[in-house]
Amino acid sequence: MIKDLLSKSKTTISFEVFPPKKDDDFQSVFTTLDALAKLNPDFMSCTYGAGGSKSKKTVEIASYIQNKLHIDAVAHMTCVGFKKEDLETNCENLKKEGINHVLALRGDRPSYMSDEQFNGREFFYATDMVKYLRENTSLQIAGACYPEKHYESESVQSDLAHLKEKIDAGVSFLVSQMFFDNDYFYRFLEKASDVGISVPVCAGIMPITSAKQIGTSVTLSGSSVPKALADIIANYGDNPEDMRKAGIDYAVRQILDLKEHGVDGIHIYTMNRIKTMTEIMGQI
Ligand code: FAD
Repeated sequence: MIKDLLSKSKTTISFEVFPPKKDDDFQSVFTTLDALAKLNPDFMSCTYGAGGSKSKKTVEIASYIQNKLHIDAVAHMTCVGFKKEDLETNCENLKKEGINHVLALRGDRPSYMSDEQFNGREFFYATDMVKYLRENTSLQIAGACYPEKHYESESVQSDLAHLKEKIDAGVSFLVSQMFFDNDYFYRFLEKASDVGISVPVCAGIMPITSAKQIGTSVTLSGSSVPKALADIIANYGDNPEDMRKAGIDYAVRQILDLKEHGVDGIHIYTMNRIKTMTEIMGQI
């Protein structure tokens, strides 16, 4: 089980992948997965929904990771994407495929969804889905956390209080939102411990390899950009190859520092990029 791996003294390394947006590209993901598996991650997770993907694709990819690559797979699922009935079917599909781990998320409102539809979802917060999964399945459940607080939260303290409720409902480990300044993560761990959170936490790392990517990442995550990273973009943003190298170097330095601090796990948002991931894994 992943929570046991995370409790060992070694820092685990996990990868996040996403299903390709276009159906025509779907087969290519298996080549990507084969290449990423050769880098020996401790586990891999597959996103749901963002970018219009459907649950079957998440399950298919997670099944390939679990059964063909023999790496523990985590399937993401969201309250926004699943009515109770669909969630039951999804859980049955996961069981059939021998997938034991899920990341239970609320999800964000997609642009095509009205406020009414979004606010009418059957599972309102991730905690509601966690409770349901805990009571009705034997799945191991992970949850998301936010070192710089979730963008909707009024305060760090209220975000942490809700995070504690999510854990008490049945979350056995956490995966963090991306951050570019490790001090946010270390402060978050201290505050989480102060409110009684003791489950393992994986630190989310997004390698930034182009100037355009930082804009998208920051818009989606709300994470702040420290001066050191802003300087890299200012200096190398116009030169794609130099920018790529400097972005990889930045991510490697973040990861090495996290390992030195003995964090439980590092979860890399791979963006399905083989070359970038090969270079990073060669240096950590
Ligand atoms: P929740 O835990 O429900 O929290 C959402 C907000 O509600 C927070 O501000 C929290 O403090 C607050 N809250 C919680 N409970 C209560 C309560 N009882 N009363 C009042 N407020 C409350 N999105 C996707 O669509 N697909 C993915 O595959 C995906 N993968 C992700 C992976 C990771 C590691 C992370 C960090 C995020 C991922 N996301 C994904 C994005 C995620 O869906 C969004 O960040 C979303 O806005 C919040 O999800 P959550 O599960 O953290 O929500």
